[in-house]
Amino acid sequence: MSPEPGDLGRATDDLETDAHVEEALPETGEIEVEAPAEAAELVDELARETERPDVAVARMLIVLDIDGTVLLEDESLSPGVVDAVARAQDAGHEVMIATGRSWEGTRGILRVLELAPEYVVCSNGAVVLRRVDGDELLYDRWHVETFDPREVLRLLREHLPEARYLVELPDGKRLYTEYLEDWNLVNARRVPFEELGAERVCRVVVVSPEQDEHDYLELVREIGLHEVSYAVGWTAWLDIAPQGVDKSTGLELVRTELGIEPEHVLVIGDGRNDVGMFEWARDHGGRAVAMAQGPQEVRDAAGETTTSVHEGGVAAVLRAL
Ligand SMILES: [Mg+2]
Repeated sequence: MSPEPGDLGRATDDLETDAHVEEALPETGEIEVEAPAEAAELVDELARETERPDVAVARMLIVLDIDGTVLLEDESLSPGVVDAVARAQDAGHEVMIATGRSWEGTRGILRVLELAPEYVVCSNGAVVLRRVDGDELLYDRWHVETFDPREVLRLLREHLPEARYLVELPDGKRLYTEYLEDWNLVNARRVPFEELGAERVCRVVVVSPEQDEHDYLELVREIGLHEVSYAVGWTAWLDIAPQGVDKSTGLELVRTELGIEPEHVLVIGDGRNDVGMFEWARDHGGRAVAMAQGPQEVRDAAGETTTSVHEGGVAAVLRAL
């Protein structure tokens, strides 16, 4: 069917309007209008480049926090995360975990995520594990930071006489004073409070059912924990690490070892114990993404926010790579 004269007329009008718009655009240098033939060439060029192996996407170091990032509070998985991790690995990226958990509480999560990364950062950076060659889920303690916990334990005991304590020793053994709900105590040994300070430790964990997140932050300010690093966990516990140690210090060791450029780092987390690694990633040209349900100050520290852990925030970020 041939076009009606009226249709032709409208088409001509449109062309004229376009020409006017183009003329009216300011020459700011920010807007480039490519002629159709040039645009087609550009598209062809892009298509050719994607097919060339030497311009393939650079290998990234993708770092995921566990609780509140890949796992919900009931330990179920964030929607889509296993698939998205598998796809990121298939694309050649190194996907790893950086968590406040001890190795004992991390190992099982790797299995659930179907992940066997070369390195795992545990205990908020105080412990870095390395996969032992040949065995997918056998890891050794590759790098361990310790501190003398006696002064910290004395101060905390003074202010929180009812609290429950756990320390992690350099070899991974853990000592605790009383049963800690929600804590995996496999291979942990119950001891009197006085024994907690007998050796140097990687971390001290304090749980006091009466304290909430705000109380812990107040307490830390009050007693001045200057000689150590600390983080408040999402179900309100106080986690104390050696001075200057956080997830980022462990991750920098791993990044260097893997030879991945700082600008190819992507970290995702939800909590205050992720702020150090957010800053580390961003300061060196990488990306930091916060989960939507995280505290405002944590989201502010990241450059970007994804959807919440319930809504599959990690999968959304990985799918968009
Ligand atoms: Mg978390």
